[in-house]
Amino acid sequence: RESLLETIRETIEKKNVELLHMQFVDIEGMLKHVTITADQLDQAVNGQTMFDGSSITGFTPINQSDLYLNPDLSTFAVLPWTEEEGYSEARFLCSVKKPDGSDFDGDPRNILKKTVKRAADKGYSISVGPELEFFLFDTDEFGQPTLRTQDVGGYFEPSPKDDGEKVRLAIYKALRMMGFTIEASHHEVAIGQHEINFKYSDALGSADAATTYKWVVKTVAKQFGLHATFMPKPLGGENGNGMHVNMSLFDIEKQENSFYNEDDKIALSKTAYHFIAGLLDNVKDFVAVTNPLVNSYKRLVPGYEAPCYIAWSASNRSALVRIPATRGAGTRVEIRCPDPSANPYLAFAVVAAAGLDGVENEKECPASVDADIFNMTEAEISERGIENLPTSLESAIDRFEAGSIGRETFGEHAFGEYIELKRGEWDDFRTSVHAWELTAYQSKF
Ligand code: GLU
Ligand code: MG
Ligand code: MG
Repeated sequence: RESLLETIRETIEKKNVELLHMQFVDIEGMLKHVTITADQLDQAVNGQTMFDGSSITGFTPINQSDLYLNPDLSTFAVLPWTEEEGYSEARFLCSVKKPDGSDFDGDPRNILKKTVKRAADKGYSISVGPELEFFLFDTDEFGQPTLRTQDVGGYFEPSPKDDGEKVRLAIYKALRMMGFTIEASHHEVAIGQHEINFKYSDALGSADAATTYKWVVKTVAKQFGLHATFMPKPLGGENGNGMHVNMSLFDIEKQENSFYNEDDKIALSKTAYHFIAGLLDNVKDFVAVTNPLVNSYKRLVPGYEAPCYIAWSASNRSALVRIPATRGAGTRVEIRCPDPSANPYLAFAVVAAAGLDGVENEKECPASVDADIFNMTEAEISERGIENLPTSLESAIDRFEAGSIGRETFGEHAFGEYIELKRGEWDDFRTSVHAWELTAYQSKF
């Protein structure tokens, strides 16, 4: 810790860092920060930055509102877009503490840490590689987002059809300067849709990275006069934005990927099969977290590479859980339902908890479904016993509230706050009159 702090001091000196943003996320994963001057580094590192928890969604009531930020030194990063001659800004991601110095249990970062600890007690570290897709939209004369994309490119399309290439390059450079290892970048299937992939890491590191990535993508896009959105389904009739979560368990004692077994017919271990079983068995109870918006359920429909059926496969992109072809150290499962509007800390926590439940209880993995489920008839689907994911936020919250994954992973406080927030969102949607209703009914009736 001391040497890390020394390096940070040197960077602050060398890059003339004047301001430090102390960042954390609320229950929805929205990034928040308070900005302090760099000469307050020591106080900040000692956890003395206070804030009003009652003004943060899902945090504390007004009568217990004082909370403190505890910066994670490993997340220190200079913000490339602030750097100019003799001036720059940096940030820390922080965990949240109560005045008595204990962890605040409503902090999503603390919630994920608890799940990481639960895995570690079983001898595992959780590896996570998320893939976050986004759209780039033009803005209007007031700087507000439109639904106009600047390109008509499709999957892997190069420039000049892909107008986002220069924006992706700028995002890549910013992320790289902030310490990301970028592996790939490409135009996605839909018009104006993009994806930049970074290297997998442990669960907490990847949730920090996903949070930072969303912020950087939006910030850099804005410099080009564009609006980047991680909304799951901004355009009807086009692919939506997914956040596939690649996950595996690393055996800490043996120092190896515990999902790999070369003797199995598809080279998966018993642990991997149990983990998949846990995901399938618990998914209905956790989609309210991985797919948190009313709009999330517009993406989970047949025909757009997003899953709607609860099945797994070694190859099939219509299945909920896919096993990418890589084996050995890279053996992993890819769960395809999460979307990037999810709070990464909470999403990785519930997905890991679901898989661990399968491992701990040695749940039996059902047969894989390798045919394209989107092409099956209803009869065939029900004959094979393939079930549907919840089709609305309302049914997802009902399952979340009734199930045990949410309560165990979130703890009482955040569990209650999350349900209240999401029920409010659903009620607001339910009692609003939507454009579709006016188009369909106003003239006709
Ligand atoms: N955009 C698709 C989704 O909604 C995923 C496409 C892909 O396989 O990368 O999840
Ligand atoms: Mg993709
Ligand atoms: Mg993928």
